[in-house]
Amino acid sequence: MAEPNYAVELIPPDIEPYRAGNTGVEYVTTFDSGRSGPHVLVTALTHGNEICGAIALDRLFRAGLRPRQGRLTLAFDNVAAYRRFDRRYPVASRFVDEDFNRLWDEATLDGPRQSVELTRARTLRPFVDAADFLLDIHSMQYATAPLMLAGTLDRSVALARRVGIPELIMCDVGHAAGKRMRDYGAFADPAAAKTALLIEAGQHWQNRAAEVATGVMLRFLLAVGTLSRDDAAPIGGPEFDANPQQRVIEVTEAVTIAGDHFEFAGEFRGLEVLNPKGTLIGRDDGREVRTPYDECVLIMPSRRLAKGHTAVRLGRFVA
Ligand SMILES: [Zn+2]
Repeated sequence: MAEPNYAVELIPPDIEPYRAGNTGVEYVTTFDSGRSGPHVLVTALTHGNEICGAIALDRLFRAGLRPRQGRLTLAFDNVAAYRRFDRRYPVASRFVDEDFNRLWDEATLDGPRQSVELTRARTLRPFVDAADFLLDIHSMQYATAPLMLAGTLDRSVALARRVGIPELIMCDVGHAAGKRMRDYGAFADPAAAKTALLIEAGQHWQNRAAEVATGVMLRFLLAVGTLSRDDAAPIGGPEFDANPQQRVIEVTEAVTIAGDHFEFAGEFRGLEVLNPKGTLIGRDDGREVRTPYDECVLIMPSRRLAKGHTAVRLGRFVA
């Protein structure tokens, strides 16, 4: 399958000014309003090559915005991978040893295994534990519509609706290869109140991803009461005032690769709606993988088609 060649439009920002921070942990800064209110955490560079989130945080820092209530913590996650970013090989810096966003279960975090990403995850864990609300900013391989990943809990979907952008909200349980930060601990506990969202802001290198990341971040900070509209509007950008009719895609299953060789049956980019039930999606060591129902939506087909990893997720529009 031919790979689309996306121009690297975005310029990775210099995050060295944020290295020292004020928390004792590099690249983590907390602003305390001195008033009661939620502790809100916004994270970027969970994947080192997804630079739109670093641009959004850089804009927030430069604007000098401070929380109206509670605390606001801003963190650059996988800085070790980001430092390796090279615009000639932009996909190479997703991580150093392993995916930072597949480590977020107690057994792995408390366990004996070591890696660059586990060390960083363990260092950041107290901030994730302390947060009432989390927004984790990502981008995608293919240039498809932005997606808000809300997990499976009603309160997360409700928060995604209060944020109001982007148009598409996706409800899913994550990946067989390991837990995401947004699904860690109480964020995924139906009985808890902590709420996490993950934004896939668009294609990794396109200018629009930075605009979506910035707009969603600001709308998120409005929704949780950290910023006022007047605070946020000056850096809001073209996405900030959008008011789309939001739609919800429920993910029913992930196609996890079982064999040594997986190939897609078409040049899928994501958000294709396949009809009818039984349409061929791909072959896993020759075994046919077909759609389980009509109007099946393909979500974020992967380029990293390795055994045990997610090839694509399948879902349907529910609202
Ligand atoms: Zn990502």
